[in-house]
Order: sequence, then C-alpha cells, then structure tokens
Amino acid sequence: MSEQQQQGYFGEFGGSFIPPELQEVMDYLSEQFNKYKDDPEFKNELNYYLKEYVGRENPLTFAEQLTKEWGGAKVYLKREDLNHTGAHKINNVVGQILLAKRMGAKRIIAETGAGQHGVATATACAMFNMDCVIYMGAEDTRRQALNVFRMELLGAKVVAVTKGQARLKDAVDEALNDLVQNYKNTFYLLGSAVGPHPFPTMVKHFQSIISEESKRQILEKEGKLPDAVLACVGGGSNAIGAFAHYLDEPSVRLIGVEPDQAATLTYGVPSVIHGFKCLVLLDEEGNPKPTYSIAAGLDYPGIGPEHSHLKVNGRAEYVTVSNEEVLAAFQELSRTEGIIPALESAHAVAHAKKLAPTMSKDQVIIINLSGRGDKDVEQVFEMLKNDQKA
Ligand SMILES: *Cc1c(COP(=O)(O)O)cnc(C)c1O
Repeated sequence: MSEQQQQGYFGEFGGSFIPPELQEVMDYLSEQFNKYKDDPEFKNELNYYLKEYVGRENPLTFAEQLTKEWGGAKVYLKREDLNHTGAHKINNVVGQILLAKRMGAKRIIAETGAGQHGVATATACAMFNMDCVIYMGAEDTRRQALNVFRMELLGAKVVAVTKGQARLKDAVDEALNDLVQNYKNTFYLLGSAVGPHPFPTMVKHFQSIISEESKRQILEKEGKLPDAVLACVGGGSNAIGAFAHYLDEPSVRLIGVEPDQAATLTYGVPSVIHGFKCLVLLDEEGNPKPTYSIAAGLDYPGIGPEHSHLKVNGRAEYVTVSNEEVLAAFQELSRTEGIIPALESAHAVAHAKKLAPTMSKDQVIIINLSGRGDKDVEQVFEMLKNDQKA
C-alpha cells in the first residue's frame, strides 16, 4: 500500500477502492492538495474569498430565548445559515475551486442528489469564471426542478443521467467517467466528507473553519470551552468541520445527529461504498439500503470514514431523532429565536432540546446551524397541513 493511501485511513475506515486509472488522478490530487493547503499565498486567497464572498466570520449567537425555554445549559448557535447561499457547503466549494485553479483546471464537474451541492458549486463557478457541469440523476432533476433552474441560471450545464436507476449513484458514476477522460483540464468537486482519499481529508480541512471560529468565539464569550458540540450528519462535512478543533479536547462532548430512517452510524456495518470504507446501511442481500429523510441533505446510506472511526473509538457520540422531533424543533427555533433552520440543521436542534435540560445552567452547548430553512418552508407547510387533516 502506498504511503498516500495509508494517510487516507481513519482506523480501518477510508482509503481508496477505485480503478487504477482513477487512483492516478487521486494521487495527483493528493499531492497538489498537500502542496497548497499550508501555502501562505493560497491561505490568503482562501481567507479573502471566505470573508468577501462567503461573508465569514459568521456569528456564534447566544440563543437567549431557547436557553430560557429549555431551562438548562446555555445554548449557542454557530451561524453557517448566514453564509452566502445559506449553508456550510460553500466553504468547501470555494476551497476546492481555488485548489482547482492552482492545478490549472478550467472545468469543474460535480454530482448532486437534491441539488444543494450543485447550486453551491454553480454559484462559485460563476464567480470564479469556471466552466461547470453538474451530473444529476434524471429522476432527481424532475423532483428538484427549481434547483436545476437555479444551476442553469448560474451558468452551469446540468446533465440528467438516465442510466441505471437515474439516481445519485448513477450520477456519481458518470462524473467519475468524465473525470477519467478529462482529468487534464477538469476538477471533480466533491461535496461532503466522503469518497476516496484525499476527499474526506480535504473536505474536513476546508470545513474546519467552522470550529476554528467557534472555539475562538466561545473562549471570548464564555472564557471556557463548550461542554458539547452538536451537528447533523449526512455525509458528515458540517459535523466534522464543527468537531475538528475540539477533537483533542476530551472535555468537549461531540454529538452527531442522524435521522432515525437514515441512521448509518447507529445501525451501519463496515463496508465499501463509492470508493471508500465506512459504516454503511445494508439490506439483507448486503446491498446499500435505500434511506429516507425529510431532509434531502441527510439522505445517504454511507457516512464519512472519520465519523465511522470516531464512532468506533468512542470519541464522538451519534444519536438519532424522529421526523416529529425535527418538525417540532424547526418550529420552536423559528418561534423563539426568529431563525428558520434548514430541516437538516433542525435535527441537531431536536437533540439539543433533549440534552440541554439535563445539564446545569453554567454549562454551554454549541449547535452547528448548518443552513437556513427557506428552501424547506414549502415542504414543512405541506407536512403540517397533512398532519392537521389526519
Ligand atoms: C448538505 C447539507 C447537510 C448534510 O451534509 P453534511 O456533509 O453531512 O454536512 C446538512 N445541512 C445542510 C444545510 C446541507 O445543505
């Protein structure tokens, strides 16, 4: 095994399980990432765009009303919802596009399921004047017609993939084919802390800005570290970014929250999916199990390799919440704080609601608010309407 592959392991998880022609592309990417990530000029450029385009640093807001209502630990919200495009995904997209430019790429490709990563990618490609091709399962393009329109408005080409089941997995395959054929001028921009090495490491690097800021902010506000940090987990990028700077602080509990119908970390078993090893939800035949979540961004049968490792070694805890709890949290945060959260982020709020009252008033928790909920308002409206009828 090459040294580079070993670097991509988190305990038994991670690595890269891909064809040799793709491995060469990944080895080169790994080398370039290592070359630039600590380069002062690269860092300056990244910081410039994070400030001027994304709008960082974003606040760590004390949730006064929520703290009162829950009657326990002090609750702070890390406001990724205030970033340009309304979520944390843009942090990683800007980082990877700047790397792509250094590598001489002219063309960015990505795949997207619900469309959120596609929209973030198309946004930054417009600003950096890069060609952008987004692969999407034909089935998903129908369900997410508005996001397809957004991407096209931003100048991206959306390719509807009709092969296989015409879903996310087929879009991934098409994007990888494109990469193998066009790697000389093309950069594959992955949206979560998943995939073969070096993606999980790279995505963590670019999302770590979340905890770099929150640690500084909580020390300023409270003069001490938080007692717990909570984040929702889909592929795991906002959570690993929110945890990163606390991993070596054993007094800080790290809690990832999953939907109970896509509880990869709770019920998953070690297996290889999409080119890397992680905990995966499998059906009786040993195939990845179709998951369902009311939050499209959490609907993924695998999970980042580092979370798989943190679960097995016990450094982080992973819990589940139900759809009813998520809907209640969505409404409660809106009503008490005037912040409508993404349905994904509402998962973290829902667990915090159970945790905070068990803690004392001098304890502190941080909820990573991964995104804003404007995109989900119509869906919640329909769900609540149907509830009333039932
Ligand atoms: C995509 C998305 C997620 C899930 O992705 P992770 O990689 O697990 O962070 C969570 N919240 C929001 C708002 C998203 O858009």
